[in-house]
Amino acid sequence: MATLPLVGHGAPVAFEWRTAAGSEDNLSAIRAGAAEPWQTVAAGDVLNQGFSDRAFWLRVAVAPDSANRILEVGYPLLDEVSVYWEQAGEIVQSYQTGDTLPFSSRPIIHRNFVFLVPSHTEPLTAWIRVKTGGSVQIPVAITPSAQFLANEQIAYGWQAMFLGIVVALAFYNLILYLMVRHQAYLWYVLAVLCTGAVQLNFNGLLFQWLWPDSPSINRYFTAPAVGLALSTVLLFIIHFLSVKRFAPAGYRVLQGLLVISLFSVGYGFVGSYQSGIVLVSALGAAVTLAAWVVGLAVWRSGQILGGFYVLAWTPLLLGHLVLAVSKLGWIPRSPWTELAPQAGVALEVILLSLALAYRINIERKRRLEAQEHLLDVQRQANLTLETRVRERTEELQRANEQLRAISLTDGLTRVANRRQFDEKLEAEWHRALRHGHKLSLLMIDIDHFKAVNDERGHLVGDDCLVALAWILKNGTQRSGDLVARYGGEEFAVLLPATDLAGARRVAEQMRTAVAATPVNSGEQAAPVHLTISVGVATLAPSADTHTQELVRRADEALYAAKDAGRNRVEAWQPQPVTPRP
Ligand code: GH3
Ligand code: MG
Ligand code: MG
Repeated sequence: MATLPLVGHGAPVAFEWRTAAGSEDNLSAIRAGAAEPWQTVAAGDVLNQGFSDRAFWLRVAVAPDSANRILEVGYPLLDEVSVYWEQAGEIVQSYQTGDTLPFSSRPIIHRNFVFLVPSHTEPLTAWIRVKTGGSVQIPVAITPSAQFLANEQIAYGWQAMFLGIVVALAFYNLILYLMVRHQAYLWYVLAVLCTGAVQLNFNGLLFQWLWPDSPSINRYFTAPAVGLALSTVLLFIIHFLSVKRFAPAGYRVLQGLLVISLFSVGYGFVGSYQSGIVLVSALGAAVTLAAWVVGLAVWRSGQILGGFYVLAWTPLLLGHLVLAVSKLGWIPRSPWTELAPQAGVALEVILLSLALAYRINIERKRRLEAQEHLLDVQRQANLTLETRVRERTEELQRANEQLRAISLTDGLTRVANRRQFDEKLEAEWHRALRHGHKLSLLMIDIDHFKAVNDERGHLVGDDCLVALAWILKNGTQRSGDLVARYGGEEFAVLLPATDLAGARRVAEQMRTAVAATPVNSGEQAAPVHLTISVGVATLAPSADTHTQELVRRADEALYAAKDAGRNRVEAWQPQPVTPRP
């Protein structure tokens, strides 16, 4: 494989390796050459043995070279790393280091295990012993120092950029959380911080930066940190995608994984280091895959956020899968297998941050729509209320008018009753007074009506009253004229702005009309012939006369008509008349 300067590996070298146990596990026994045969790893291949607690011994032949060179064991989580330099059959230098020893045990302070090649003129052999509770991955490279430094700048720059992305997005989303107060943002911040820490830890940087003198922390950090990262990632997914609502089955799966993840945090502290690492490695693969599938399910249920999420999760899924299977030793470790998840994490946190921002947009739109809808409902309600009130008011007005009409109408004959007559007389009196008009009144009484009642019965009498009212009503010509039932079988006709001659004419027409119109009583019986007597009075109202004067005069004239033989019209005369017998 070609040199991959991105992750700080120099030129890989070919070497031989074997395992050793018990009394065999020391330099002299290994150099003496024991029963177990040496196996060969080609340059560019990484010794990858999954999980094994045996000691691994490497024998690297180093030919002379004109340049100063660096030997690098490029996996920082190895527990014990010892290097013995042999020159012309003698051990000339030896180093004992590993992540179970303080950083000061390293001849060169670096996140990986880095050693100067002690000579460039003589052939050398490097004996390397590695023993670790974690994943046995031993990448070995020998690089000219100048090239190593150049590669190192790029690799360190990449790590710094990754750290920058993690810190910036964590801060940004923390601020979003403080403003929006939705749990998804908080879990996102924690997930990004934990995942970032896990990535930096895999690259040996947390040990170098934070606790170089306390190697015992390393043993308790990796598994719990991965467990915590997985837990926060799961909580984020559950809240961000509303998984409970949109994918209930997926929700149960994620909850199950959450329980195991939380358990793995505790187990990382109390369980064996190796089994803890195996647990979180397998869990990491399961969580990544489940999270991706759940995202797909939520997306398919119509949630746009699910789409964003799947897009963000895909690179991480691939990266983690690559890392997990490489840790299990199923595929060879390479700079790419180490880089993949970190690049995946970087892409993921950026894309998810976009999704979270987009989520705010969705929420805002939803809120606006809800407000709009509420306003509509309110407007509609107001409109309905107004219409109702108007309808009710109109109904009430109509009812009032009807009531008033009823209270002013005679129930039998349907002409004005006495009350309406009195009101109208008062009103017309004042109008005539204002305009200087004359006001005429006819008082009408049916002749011998008692006899009709006696001979034909009261019901026929009533029919006669109805018929008479109708004839009288037909006899008035002006809209201002009023026919009223004054009482019993007496009627009054008020004629505003009418002089005596006019009033007499109207009275005469009414009298002849009544006399000429026999009343059919409805049955087979003979029609009833009625006649009326009419008293006429005309007055020009003045300030010192009263309405009753007009009524009195019309009454007097009526008596006069009766006296004069009935079925006739008499006008009021100023001379005294003899009272009615
Ligand atoms: P006159 O020619 O003098 O007027 O004789 P008259 O019989 O008509 O006497 P009067 O004017 O005093 O009429 C009173 C009678 O009118 C009494 C009653 O029989 C009749 N009458 C009064 N009011 C009603 C009514 O509401 N219905 C009916 N059927 N008859 C009524
Ligand atoms: Mg009468
Ligand atoms: Mg009468």
